Amino acid sequence: MTDTPDDGYRLLRVTAIADPGPHLRRLRLEGPDLARFATDDDLHVRLWLPAEAGAAPPRPTLGPDGRPLGVARGMAGAMRYYTIRRIDAAAGWLEVDVVLHDAAGPGADFARRAVPGAICGMSGPCGHGVPSARRLLLAGDETALPAIARIAEGLGPDVAGIALIEVDGPRDVLPFDHPPGLAVSWIFRRDAGRHPLAAALGPLLPGFGGADDFVWIAGEFDQLQTLKPGLAALPRARQLCVPYWRRSEAGTPRS
Ligand SMILES: Cc1cc2nc3c(=O)[nH]c(=O)nc-3n(C[C@H](O)[C@H](O)[C@H](O)COP(=O)(O)OP(=O)(O)OC[C@H]3O[C@@H](n4cnc5c(N)ncnc54)[C@H](O)[C@@H]3O)c2cc1C
Repeated sequence: MTDTPDDGYRLLRVTAIADPGPHLRRLRLEGPDLARFATDDDLHVRLWLPAEAGAAPPRPTLGPDGRPLGVARGMAGAMRYYTIRRIDAAAGWLEVDVVLHDAAGPGADFARRAVPGAICGMSGPCGHGVPSARRLLLAGDETALPAIARIAEGLGPDVAGIALIEVDGPRDVLPFDHPPGLAVSWIFRRDAGRHPLAAALGPLLPGFGGADDFVWIAGEFDQLQTLKPGLAALPRARQLCVPYWRRSEAGTPRS
């Protein structure tokens, strides 16, 4: 008998559904052997979503680094990235907070129609956490909120800095634990002009160029593009700026 190496793919079952805000759906997903996903070094996963309710999720072939090499021909469905907001590997569950944006898309649609017992696939983990820093600038929109909240909750009590989060309006504010020196501000998109997160962030960037600082930003592609000049002036090793989605008819490009 040969042992098949674990490629990190899991089948997960939806066991609880909650709406912590008007545009956010929290799915509790249960599955076997989640220990490899319980790490602050890699916060994200690839969710493999069925094409329609009740259908089997895609089963990718994964490379040694966990990246998908391909999906079996004829297998319908899609992959989308999400952040593990909470995980209890021993109890066999994790939670993801999915933005219910207006446009149709496999990720938002899976969350919208989710019922207990719905199945999706998951592989990973992937992505990065935040390296050790004394001062942090954390910024993003609601797709980044699960990561920002998880990062903030894991910080030591002496870490200081600023967290800026762009959401639609006051009802989308979702408080999270953070050290007292981290000032959390919410930006309401509905009251603001174009690129409100970038407008608030731009003037702050020059103040976070120190060796003990780290700048972490995630959000919409075009908005983050406007931050390039400001980020170019900061040390490359002390920043992470990742587009999480793109406002376009074609949807978000997949890596
Ligand atoms: C590392 C990483 C971690 C992420 N973590 C999370 C997470 O925890 N929670 C989360 O909700 N998202 C997260 N995202 C973002 C998520 O993967 C994208 O928003 C993705 O496009 C959603 O897929 P979809 O199938 O719903 O829509 P798509 O099929 O990709 O797009 C369909 C349409 O919806 C639009 N659209 C997509 N996302 C949004 C949005 N947020 N707001 C408005 N319009 C949108 C597109 O422009 C397109 O027109 C993460 C992305 C990355 C790269």
